[in-house]
Formats: sequence, C-alpha cells, structure tokens
Amino acid sequence: MARPPRRRDAPAPRLDASGDAPVSALPGVGPKVAAKLAARGLETLQDLWLHLPLRYEDRTRITAIADLRPGQPAQVEARVEAVERSFRYRPMLRVAVGDDSRGTLVLRFFHFGKAQVAQFVPGRRILCYGEVRPGQHGLEMVHPSYRMLADEADAAPRDRLDPVYPAIEGLGPATVAKLVGEALARLPPADTLELLPAGTRESLGLPTLREALLTAHRPPPDADLALFAAGRHPAQRRLALEELLAHHLSLRRQRIALREHGAMPVRPAGKLAAALCKRLPFPLTGAQQRVLDEVARDMARPEPMLRLVQGDVGSGKTVVAALAAANAVEAGRQVALMAPTELLAEQHFNNFRAWLEPLGLRVAWLAGKVTGKARAAALDDIAHGRAQVVVGTHALMQEKVAFAALALAIVDEQHRFGVHQRLALRDKGLSGSQVPHQLVMTATPIPRTLAMSAYADLDVSVIDEMPPGRTPVTTVAVSGERRAEVVERIRAACAEGRQAYWVCTLIEDSEEVEAQAAQTTFEQLGEALPGLPLGLLHGRMKPAEKQAVMARFKAGETKLLVATTVIEVGVDVPNASLMIIENAERLGLAQLHQLRGRVGRGAAASSCVLMYKPPLSALARERLEVMRATTDGFVIAEKDLELRGPGELLGTRQTGLASFRVADLARDADLLPAVHRAADGLLAADPGLAGRVVARWVGGAARFAGA
Ligand code: ADP
Ligand code: MG
Repeated sequence: MARPPRRRDAPAPRLDASGDAPVSALPGVGPKVAAKLAARGLETLQDLWLHLPLRYEDRTRITAIADLRPGQPAQVEARVEAVERSFRYRPMLRVAVGDDSRGTLVLRFFHFGKAQVAQFVPGRRILCYGEVRPGQHGLEMVHPSYRMLADEADAAPRDRLDPVYPAIEGLGPATVAKLVGEALARLPPADTLELLPAGTRESLGLPTLREALLTAHRPPPDADLALFAAGRHPAQRRLALEELLAHHLSLRRQRIALREHGAMPVRPAGKLAAALCKRLPFPLTGAQQRVLDEVARDMARPEPMLRLVQGDVGSGKTVVAALAAANAVEAGRQVALMAPTELLAEQHFNNFRAWLEPLGLRVAWLAGKVTGKARAAALDDIAHGRAQVVVGTHALMQEKVAFAALALAIVDEQHRFGVHQRLALRDKGLSGSQVPHQLVMTATPIPRTLAMSAYADLDVSVIDEMPPGRTPVTTVAVSGERRAEVVERIRAACAEGRQAYWVCTLIEDSEEVEAQAAQTTFEQLGEALPGLPLGLLHGRMKPAEKQAVMARFKAGETKLLVATTVIEVGVDVPNASLMIIENAERLGLAQLHQLRGRVGRGAAASSCVLMYKPPLSALARERLEVMRATTDGFVIAEKDLELRGPGELLGTRQTGLASFRVADLARDADLLPAVHRAADGLLAADPGLAGRVVARWVGGAARFAGA
C-alpha cells in the first residue's frame, strides 16, 4: 500500500516532537510516577531514551546446572525439588532446584513473603537468573530473579541482552525497564530522529541515533560487553559524539550571541599600567608581555573580549590581570576579580592593593564574611564607582551587587567555576546592550583538543614561559616507610631558613575525615619536630582562621604548614621550598602538579617529595614517574589524558563544563576533531539545525545562548 506523496508545501515534520512529549504520555505514568521520574531529571520521552543501562544481563541462553561456574551470572531452567524454611538465626528460605544435567542448585532468600513460599511447589518449573556462588551444599544463587513457568513455550530465551538501569527512588527495576521500553517503542523513524550529517557519523563508522539507542538499551547477544563496560561501544560513541557536539555548539553559540552585544572599548594611553610596571620589582617576561598585548587589543574593540589565559602555576598570571585592570580603570571604568576560594581571593586582594593603591586606586573587598556596615559601605562604593576595582568570591555575583561601570570581569581558576557562574558575573556589567570584557585565568593546562571543546566560547592565550631565576623543582618518590628521613629533611630545610608544606590526602570525599587526618599528622609532626613552629590548614576551619594561618606562614612565623588539599590552588609563599605530599599515589596528575606548583616560586632550589604507600599499582607508578620526569604542565596534561583510565577522577570537573550524560571528555577525546569539524559545518550551513542539536542535549544550559 503506497502512501500518497507528501505535498511539497506541507510543513516539515517537527523534529523531536515525540521526544519532547512528557513522560505522562506513557501508559501507567500518573502524577506520582511522573514526580519520581522528575526527581531524577527524567521529564520527557527523550530523557528516558537517554537513561542508559549501567550494565546488562544475558538471558539469551540457558545454562545447564552441571555447567555453572561460581562467580558468573547465569540463567537456569529447572524444577523445584525441595523447599526448606528456617528461622534459626534469621529467616531463610532455601529452594533446591534441579535440571536434566542432574545438577542441583540452591536458591537462597533472606526476605520472602508467604505468597512467594507458596509458589515453590516441588515439581514446578522455574526460570531463574543470578550470580552463582559456592554455598554450603554445592552451588547457590542468593536472591536470584526468577519466574515460575507455566508451559514449555514460556521459557523461550530472550533474543537481546537485558538492560539493568540506574535505580530511581520509589520505582522498582522492572517498572523502570518497562517505562524505558515504552519510551523506546515511541522512537521516531531513523531519518526523523537523526540530526547529524550522515558524513560525520559514517566517517567514524558509527550508527544512526535510532540504531545507537536501540543497541545501547538492548544489545544483541553477541555484543562486546567489555566494550560497553569501557564506554567504547560504537552505540555509546555515537551518543557521546552527538552530546559533545551539542555542548561544543552551545558554547560556540553563546560566544556568537555575546559578541552581538557591544562592549565599551577600553583605549587608555597606558599611563597607569606603565606606572605599575615601573613599581614592580621585576620586568615582565616575554610571554606575559605578549599575552598582555593580546588582552589590550581585545579590550580596545567594541565587542566583548572573551579570553582565557592559560599559564602554568607560577607563570605570573596575576600581574597580567592587574595590568589589564589598570587599563580599564584609566579608561574610567570598573573591574571585578572573582576567585573560587576566600583564601585565594584574599591573596589577590592583597596583591592588587599593594600594586594599585599607591597609584591612587581604590580596591574594594567583597566576600561572604563581609557583613553589616562594612558590606553596605563596600556595596555603596561599588555602586557609585568610588571603588574602581573589586576583588572577591562568589559574593560578587549576588543580586545586591551593582556596579557603576563594570568594563572588565576577571575570573581566576576558571575550572572551579561553571560556565553559568561566569555568565552571571558578565550580566553584572549589562548596561544597555553592553557587556563587560571577560578575562578568565586558569592554571590547569589542558591539551589543545580538549581546550577547544572545554573553552569553545573563549579565545586562548598561553603564558608559556616561567619568570627567570627559578630553579626547577626536583621531585622524588619515597616509600612511606621512610617517613623518618622525610621528617629529617624538613628539619634541615627549616634550619636553613626555608619553609615546607606537608599535604595530607585521603580517599574519602569528606572534609571532616580529611581535617581529622590533618590534625593527627599535625600533632605527630609537632612531636617529631620539637621547637619548630607549625601551622595547620584544613577545609573545616573558618575563613578567618584559615587566613590567619596563611598570614603566619607567609610571614615566616610558622615554618611547616600541615594542610589538606585546600592549598592546591593559587597559594603563593616564595620562601617555601619543600613540598611533602602524603599518599601521593592516590592523587591524579593534575592535582599533583597543582600541589607541586606551591614550591619553586622563589630563588632557592626546591623539592617535592611524593610519599607513597607500597605496593604501587602500575598506573600509580607511571604517574609518579611522570611527575619525576617533568615539571611542564602541558606535558603532564597530555600524559594525564593518555593514562587516565575509567575510574580516574578528573574529567569534566576540571573544565568547568556542565556534566555529560554519556560522554567523557577524556575518554572520548579522540572524537573531538570530528566534533569540531561538524560544528564548523553546522554553524555555517544550518544554524537552525545546530540549535536543535543543542536543545536535545543541553536543554537548560542552552537558555543562556539567547541571553
Ligand atoms: P600564577 O600564574 O600561578 O597565578 P602568580 O601570578 O601568583 O602565578 O605569580 C607567581 C609569582 O611570580 C609571584 O610571586 C609573582 O610576583 C612572581 N612573578 C610574576 N611575574 C614575574 C616576572 N616577570 N618575574 C619575576 N617574578 C614574577
Ligand atoms: Mg594564580
């Protein structure tokens, strides 16, 4: 039966129309179920399509009991032979089942109801699935999933693998699987669903979106489950490709939209910056000068600057920011500098004050702990333009903070902030249609391809030269068994007037436990090093306490600072020349590099001791070796990408990107060149289609695109 051809002037079908339908369109989804789904962010059919299985169960085969192997999941078809209930220690139900292979298997239950017990009548047939393990009387399955069989046909094995979905609170696994199945049954035909140009996916040998979704939810029996577990199956890669493309496009569109706003061109004579340079105790490095020129050129234009300055720890980004600030102030404008922690913000505040106040500028301070009259006064100074430069934390983004004429927003350590926070600061400067210039600084060196995706909305400058006179940090890896020698080393360094850090690390993601460990280490080191003034710094301390501890260390009153990884970012004490990192094997390369960057900031030869707890895994050994071999952040970043396996920590957290549903920037980095090509093509040829790709994956975040 041929369908009538579509009239040429008929409106094109709306793509994704069915995917946008609310979950309540599915049978069995009333307000209660919908609310439970919504609590997991699942609101539309498409959200269910993208609710991917964690793993799979193979019910396509039936294994004879005699062939079962402990430790392996299997499906068995058998007859109930005997049933035994006991209550001796706790309720327990044991059901012995057997099949034609003359094997016997015990199904064991600790939670069971009356009706369940009544089902197990000797002689009845049962189909069960579970992991086999050795028991007291031969092999057993504990709480297998099972089904009583009515007739022969009933046991027909599945033809696809069964998905196991991430749990949704309040909904049983069977319900979740059924709902996803219903949503998938409503998948539109491949050509309606598809948004990617055929060339993009074909060149990578990847399936259509429809095929990818169906495979990812119900793989064929011969699917390579190891590939799935590693996130490298073509079906997953197809999804990751589109998701990466969507995020990349979203950032590119934000950039395009932002560029449509004007910005105040900043074209000062450069007197203030020159005066500041003259007061600095050092000349700028060539790289600092080059980046400063790039920034000044951007700021002179009537569109907003969107620039990321990447520079390894200690490369001198702060002074570049201060010079850019001086330019904006000379042009009669205001500058905001935002840092992710109070510690870091305060350090910037002190630097900026020392540099800019002698030139007659007023630098205001705004952080969460600034309250009452002080806060009101700061807000007033900012609103009336009396404070030309404002330094602070997230507090800068609060609604009450209004600027008189913000022309430059500087954000330090970008990866700690999300894109959205940066945009909020940008909005502070909105006056008419103008937005402030944006300067983002990060010490996280990331490989070029990753940077192109993570910072697709920014131009990138790199300070690729260290200030002169620094001796590179020598790094050694030492077993924790040699702790006494390490303590001796601290004593020797401090006796020479130097200072040291001791960083305690833990696996637990708990500030409290970490703080406790630091406290214990602090006490032990205090005993081991009598007479040496020690400081303690951890995340559970109040900001004022932290600042006092840092001030004493910076002033040289304390010689050894015992700290958690809170000191990772930005802390600058040039006289500290020894860094001890405990349990270094637990940290990723990026974090080790950040920590090591706290030393080697002065003229004295510095060293970093990576203390580890043997035995080292092969991966940990390789990481420590990389740290020993190089201090170049970019080399380390490339290595990090190469070594990072599944289960390693870093990834998106480092980039400030929204989190992904399927993709992983590091794991899927090889897809990025194709993503960038496809993005260029789409933006040039079909911006509307680009918008649909973004809407499908990025959703809420894309709202910023139009802002
Ligand atoms: P980062 O890039 O890690 O933020 P900082 O801006 O904190 O680095 O600079 C690290 C140290 O180097 C500071 O003490 C700073 O005063 C100093 N510094 C910056 N530029 C130079 C330079 N051109 N020559 C010598 N020292 C410099
Ligand atoms: Mg810095």
